[in-house]
Amino acid sequence: MEEAKKSYKCKYCGEAFEKPLMLAWHVRSKHKSVKKREKKAAEKVTPAEQLNKTIEAIGILKGLQVSPNLSEGEKKLLGDVSKTIEELLTSVRKGK
Ligand SMILES: [Zn+2]
Repeated sequence: MEEAKKSYKCKYCGEAFEKPLMLAWHVRSKHKSVKKREKKAAEKVTPAEQLNKTIEAIGILKGLQVSPNLSEGEKKLLGDVSKTIEELLTSVRKGK
């Protein structure tokens, strides 16, 4: 039976490997950027949370945009920023 065989699971994607060396190679080649980013980020944010935060941010930006205290230039800038974020969000969703 092969089931009892020990395997080394990748903590990033869950792929299992027979040898630690293979796992290390896999992580190095596939998750190099992830590893670096994880060191910087103290807290872990799931993609779903990230998405919610982004949607929240758009809402805030749009709320700010209609504020009477803003100049036309500032309103335009906020409009551009929220549009950019919305476009990013759309492309992320399509990529899934
Ligand atoms: Zn992996």
